[in-house]
Amino acid sequence: MKKIKTFNILTIYPTIFDSYFNLALIKKAIDKKIIKIKIHNLRDYSVDNYKSVDDRPYGGGAGMIMRLDIIFKAIKKILKNGKTKSHIIVFSAKGKVLTQQSLEKWKKYDNLTLICGRFEGIDQRVVDKIADEEVSIGEYVLAGGEIPAMIVVEGIARLLKGVLGNIDSLKEESHNQKGIMEAGQYTRPEKFYPQIKNKKLVWGVPKILLSGNHKAIAEYRNQKTKINKK
Ligand code: SAH
Repeated sequence: MKKIKTFNILTIYPTIFDSYFNLALIKKAIDKKIIKIKIHNLRDYSVDNYKSVDDRPYGGGAGMIMRLDIIFKAIKKILKNGKTKSHIIVFSAKGKVLTQQSLEKWKKYDNLTLICGRFEGIDQRVVDKIADEEVSIGEYVLAGGEIPAMIVVEGIARLLKGVLGNIDSLKEESHNQKGIMEAGQYTRPEKFYPQIKNKKLVWGVPKILLSGNHKAIAEYRNQKTKINKK
């Protein structure tokens, strides 16, 4: 039997995923048993009555840091003391920036564990000793790793067989090759006549796309991909 790809997500805001994972492509992938998403509340692994998961940084400084021991405890339980093999990703603004190539690599793992930080971030030992990769979704700072986790789940799910309606959609996409973007796409209406500031305009479609000449269209698109490359 084919294995269902499992995503374990460690977070202090489990409900943040409720609507996003219950719609569209992700819901379809779950319903078709292509993926399984298990959300784990890190507060369930806290070691005090306040359910705290963070503490002050050694050496001083602003904010709170997520504790190593709590994340370790959660991972140990979730991965059944190491019996379940999983590729562990920790999200951080200082990590290696996510690319389509990363998603292509990760789609091969049966089990992925995604650790979402909050506050000022996560104890560095989680990055050094527990995680396989430290990943950033871009060169900016968010308030938490939950949106990055949604991005990774969606980015991988759409690459899996049976998820997209038309598998050809994956063939000529932006970023399939590094730096190469898909050409701009058009649909009806062929001519659009907007009126802006009392001026009647015509917004048309590149004629070549209407020509029916497949070779010319392919060449045109090729040219456009290269233009977008810069
Ligand atoms: N003090 C940290 C930022 C903490 S933001 C720094 O200067 O690097 C809190 C959490 O949000 C992080 O632990 C991480 O899990 C998540 N996060 C913030 N920006 C992110 C990004 N660009 N990519 C991935 N995760 C991010």
